[in-house]
Amino acid sequence: MSLLAKPCNFCDRSVPKGSGTMLAKNDGTVLWFCSSKCKKNALVLKRDPRKLKWTKKHVKGGIRKK
Ligand SMILES: [Zn+2]
Repeated sequence: MSLLAKPCNFCDRSVPKGSGTMLAKNDGTVLWFCSSKCKKNALVLKRDPRKLKWTKKHVKGGIRKK
């Protein structure tokens, strides 16, 4: 991970420093979001990024259960 860009916690695209949103949770975890779209999907809609085609975390063919 470079100091200049962090991956978006939702879609996994890199977030350049100075853009995007940083969210520090009460438990100390820091979340980075490239856009309000990602933030909303993660926090409000609570969607699984692996199920969404527009994220880099998307798993082709669906998620396999153990
Ligand atoms: Zn994102």
